[in-house]
Amino acid sequence: MEIYIWQLDNHSEFWYENQLHMPAHYQISKPGVTVGYPPEWTVRKRMIQITKIIEWDMGHRVPQHRHKCRNPHGHRYKLELTLSGPVSCVKGSSQEGMICDFGDIKTLMLESIHQKLDHCFMASEDDPIFSDLAQGKGQDLNILLVPFVPTAENIVLWCYERLHPILPTNLSIVRLRLFETPSSYAEYVVTQ
Ligand SMILES: [Zn+2]
Repeated sequence: MEIYIWQLDNHSEFWYENQLHMPAHYQISKPGVTVGYPPEWTVRKRMIQITKIIEWDMGHRVPQHRHKCRNPHGHRYKLELTLSGPVSCVKGSSQEGMICDFGDIKTLMLESIHQKLDHCFMASEDDPIFSDLAQGKGQDLNILLVPFVPTAENIVLWCYERLHPILPTNLSIVRLRLFETPSSYAEYVVTQ
């Protein structure tokens, strides 16, 4: 099967099963045409990326840090999830023209990440202060012990591990970007 690519702009591409499905007046040699297509066109796959953002408040500390990050402190974390998938062409479907409803992605992010992390304190299992606290007088506190040092780099990987298994199979994670401050973020770019 031959695949023809019609590039509409620098970000969007249409794949056609064969050139017969491509409108005669839209040729590969004429890029830059505005998006829009009559229903008889057979657009097999239109890959688009979307991004959903959630935020939460959380405390942490980096026990071995040589500067102030060894002290317990908190951040307003911001997570940007970028997904890639084909735009639905199913007529009459609630998701026609979408790769996924933003509201559905938000629900998955809230249930798998926000509910777990908002107003908690993330600490390493090897952190003697907080591991003792979590198992002693702090049992009623929302202390989440994790098997890693809770840096932005490790937390963004933790988020990936929670999101990856629960996403619809037609979507793939392109990147996760976790802001620890407005000017600092860690990013996990997924390579297929
Ligand atoms: Zn910090």
